[in-house]
Amino acid sequence: MGLASRKGKRRQHSAVLPIIDSSQCTYCKKCMKWCPADAIIQDNGKAYIVADKCIGCGECIATCRFDAVKYNFNADEGYLQKSMAEHACGAVIDKPGKCFYFNVLINMTQNCDCLVRSRTRN
Ligand code: SF4
Ligand code: SF4
Repeated sequence: MGLASRKGKRRQHSAVLPIIDSSQCTYCKKCMKWCPADAIIQDNGKAYIVADKCIGCGECIATCRFDAVKYNFNADEGYLQKSMAEHACGAVIDKPGKCFYFNVLINMTQNCDCLVRSRTRN
């Protein structure tokens, strides 16, 4: 994920679009101002993401101070995993003999490690 281009990161995230937990949304509108796709509208006094317009950039997750925006990791796990593998392959395919791999898994997060707050929950 880290070696993908900005466009590539968006593509990988596009299958796990965020959703808004209306019980935590204060309708401060901050996410609406930052959304580059105008994908967030008002619904019953709360913010609501129009999935057809959302490009999965994650700006709304980063900007919400009330922890109301969450990734819907159950949307299509298969696409995300395959897309990450495809981008990882793209990052090393022209570097034969120049890469090595190691895995260290500690303090695993419930969600994506982009979200600092999820580290404190586990
Ligand atoms: S930033 Fe968070 S609290 Fe504010 S409107 Fe968006 S989802 Fe609701
Ligand atoms: S992920 Fe990006 S495009 Fe989708 S609603 Fe959030 S800010 Fe808008």
